[in-house]
Amino acid sequence: MALQARHAPPPELMSLVSEWAARIRAGDVRSLAKAATEIENSGPQSTALLRELVSTGALTVGITGPPGVGKSTLVDQLCRALRAEGKRVAILAVDPSSPITGGALLGDRVRMMAHYQDRGVFMRSMASRGTLGGLARTTRDVARLLDGAGFDAVLIETVGAGQSDVAIASLADSIIVVLSPGLGDDIQAVKAGILEIADVFAVNRADLGGAETLIDQLHQERPETPAVATVATTGSGITNLLSTLLSLKRRTRVAAPQGAQIDHLGIAVPSVDAALQFWTEQLGLPCLARETVQQERVNVAMLDCSGSRVELLEAADPESTIAKFIAKRGPGIHHIALRVADFNEALDRLKANGARLMSEPRQGAGGHTYVFVHPASTGGVLLELIEAHTKESGELNT
Ligand code: ZN
Repeated sequence: MALQARHAPPPELMSLVSEWAARIRAGDVRSLAKAATEIENSGPQSTALLRELVSTGALTVGITGPPGVGKSTLVDQLCRALRAEGKRVAILAVDPSSPITGGALLGDRVRMMAHYQDRGVFMRSMASRGTLGGLARTTRDVARLLDGAGFDAVLIETVGAGQSDVAIASLADSIIVVLSPGLGDDIQAVKAGILEIADVFAVNRADLGGAETLIDQLHQERPETPAVATVATTGSGITNLLSTLLSLKRRTRVAAPQGAQIDHLGIAVPSVDAALQFWTEQLGLPCLARETVQQERVNVAMLDCSGSRVELLEAADPESTIAKFIAKRGPGIHHIALRVADFNEALDRLKANGARLMSEPRQGAGGHTYVFVHPASTGGVLLELIEAHTKESGELNT
């Protein structure tokens, strides 16, 4: 009891967070924007805020596609159509390729949206400040915040171009992949992985020649996935796109934040490249990041599986613990990582109960804290405990 009391947040802090959450639920835009910043910065109140703001069942839609197909205009039109039905809409514009938050492009759009003077629309831009894995988690948490704030729809638009957009869009309930005629003579030219994640295709700029051909090609390539012709600049086809979207079965919801969650499973593999053949190319889990972690002498690939991740670990040299693990036990599950809301409290409890820690807590490359617990204590598997909501969120430590 004494240990828990020492680390429990002071009651006055809890009621501040409760009041903050209540203002957000009541539609106070400044409180909401402040909360989004708190989460982006992994601030001390972010975990408590997300816990206070339970899901209100918002429809979360990812919108992705190659550059130049009119994604932003399409998102604005979807927003208008939803507003016309009285729905409150939040737009998250995420640019995984840009290290600058609120760059010129996004800034222009924020001004344009503000021009609506519409309190039923909230817009936020996010750009990469650390690892892509960090951006993906922050995006998911801000989307949770907007869901908890009571928006009916959260539109996550990715404005970069590439595999990273696929990873971020796949955090949503449903995904619109926007294409347009004139991208090339055939859709094979479109980046790999993007067609596979679509729940619906929007063939935008359908007033240009070649739209019919593109729709035919999509029907052949992905017969189960509806393709809707749109002209975002005029709003043509948007109603049809929206009703198609609403008729879709939602993907698995992202789990609500809780005290402890499986953060990732670490798998020791002889070769990350070879393992990615299965996990990414055959199974389809998006690769969030690849990195060599020098202090652990390991090459890492982190794969997204909505809510938790799979971490592939390859020895970077023969003295690496991963090399020793494989030599002794063969490739396979190396550790389970658990993210806990109150790391210090969990640590104190383990120490008090005599659990065998592998070392004192360490700082990972991104400033997060982690500790390993010996398999002798856990029932046979190495356990990694990670502090929730820290700077780089502990993606890349082994
Ligand atoms: Zn790990």
